[in-house]
Amino acid sequence: MTRQIVRTTAGKVLRSDDLNAGEKEVAAAFLQANPHFGNPHVVRCDWCHETRTLFRDENEGPFKLTSHGWLCETCNVRASSQEVKF
Ligand SMILES: [Zn+2]
Repeated sequence: MTRQIVRTTAGKVLRSDDLNAGEKEVAAAFLQANPHFGNPHVVRCDWCHETRTLFRDENEGPFKLTSHGWLCETCNVRASSQEVKF
């Protein structure tokens, strides 16, 4: 079980995609067992429409984590982020 699986599940939850049986419960249990991870956030740039699902300590291009959330480095604008709770 890795954070990647939680990211994938979070993306599905946000898009209301079909989930596998128990998938959401597995992700929720993983986060409960690792509370320091926090919940994943769906980060989106309104300008270039790039989207990533990231934990609070993660940077992934084009997004750079700042003290006020994520910045889209391509556009140099603050990205919107939505916390995903299971
Ligand atoms: Zn952008």
